[in-house]
Amino acid sequence: MPPADNLMDKLVSLAKRRGFVFQSSEIYGGLGSVWDYGPLGVELKKNIKERWWRSMVHEREDIEGLDAAILMHPKVWEASGHVAGFTDPLVDCKHCKNRFRADDPRIKGTPGQPDAQCPVCGSRGTLTAPRMFNLMFKTFMGPLEEAAAVVYLRPETAQGIYVNYLNVLQSSRQKIPFGIAQIGKAFRNEITPGNFTFRTREFEQMEMQFFVKPGTDGEWFDFWRHERMKWLVGNLGIRAEKVRFHQHTKLELAHYAKDAYDIEYEFPFGWNEFEGIHNRTDFDLARHQEYSGKKLDYLDPATNERFVPYVVETSAGADRTTLVVLCDAYHEEDVAGEKRVVLRFRPTIAPLKAAVFPLVNKDGMPELARRIYDDVRNHCNAFYDDGGSIGRRYRRQDEAGTPFGITIDGQSTQDGTVTVRDRDTLAQVRVASDRLVQFLGDRLRG
Ligand code: ATP
Repeated sequence: MPPADNLMDKLVSLAKRRGFVFQSSEIYGGLGSVWDYGPLGVELKKNIKERWWRSMVHEREDIEGLDAAILMHPKVWEASGHVAGFTDPLVDCKHCKNRFRADDPRIKGTPGQPDAQCPVCGSRGTLTAPRMFNLMFKTFMGPLEEAAAVVYLRPETAQGIYVNYLNVLQSSRQKIPFGIAQIGKAFRNEITPGNFTFRTREFEQMEMQFFVKPGTDGEWFDFWRHERMKWLVGNLGIRAEKVRFHQHTKLELAHYAKDAYDIEYEFPFGWNEFEGIHNRTDFDLARHQEYSGKKLDYLDPATNERFVPYVVETSAGADRTTLVVLCDAYHEEDVAGEKRVVLRFRPTIAPLKAAVFPLVNKDGMPELARRIYDDVRNHCNAFYDDGGSIGRRYRRQDEAGTPFGITIDGQSTQDGTVTVRDRDTLAQVRVASDRLVQFLGDRLRG
């Protein structure tokens, strides 16, 4: 494998070359830390989201789905604590006008004091004392750009779940314990974004809030922590040795949390969080009860007890999880003296499942290949490629992470068999074309 520092560069360049991820508004020089998903990237991310939705919502009787709007009543963010507390301390350089996080390790000395040195222009004594900066994006609702019309782009999807908790509970006839799951966009005006799609200003979250009786929260917290780790390794196929838990220390814990674990992945730039499991207690529901004046407590039909439920949250970034999957899949190897770059995605999440190649563009091979391609793409996402040598076509699909390459050769037009090349083992087997869909189906299930 290449050294970690240039692995990221290689991945960013492969992502662009093969159509996984492009920089937003690239022809205008790009927009800072905003990324677009190309034809393969959108499939990969969609497959990850679909598997999450399936295991959270469809396979469980006790979790319901939700799709709340991005714009919410501004009071939501007062109640949640985001207006007052979702802030980072920043310092400005009065000379070059650059802005930094106060904890930026490149700053020498103490900001606000004469000894402090700007990491960009090198001036001394020009850095202001730290000031708090709110990370929420603001916009205006309606025609007037005035304070009363301010609304925020949500910085997390969770609040959409809390404010709908009673609607979902009553309409679905669930009983506590039960959960609500949601996938959607979130926005944070991050000060130090970077590392490709790791920290961006617009991203997607896959969040699930599980409402439980106070006192049972510890057990549910352990359950969900293990369940999420099992899913990442067993379902997405992430290598177990590359993921670990990190329990928040007292200092790291958010003000509302009783306990929290990050799930971290060993990225080329080090171990970093890509999912969190949090015991948020009754903080959010109690605050919404207080700010909205609406009762949000629960009457237990079995015991007639009333309580405000505790919440165990599993909060994952769809983009960060996609980056984990990309990093984990990336392999370089030597095949017969040549370097091969291959993305070893689990077939279930691979953007393309199969590629169909006529060996040469004559002797009936393209016609047969087209028929086979039509048949295969009725069942799974497939690609047809008749450009360049067969070796180059294989290499392109290795970089796309396509698990199966199907080649139609001279023998195919005689006896109706095709070769199927396995992306990982490179083994080639001959399969009768009328059995091909079944053959692929057996290997793509999971
Ligand atoms: P960090 O410490 O990295 O800023 P956080 O602890 O603030 O993250 P949470 O608020 O717990 O993150 O958000 C849950 C998940 O949402 C994260 O684990 C991550 O996958 C995703 N996420 C949060 N912020 C971003 C971002 N700026 N870009 C991409 N994904 C993000």
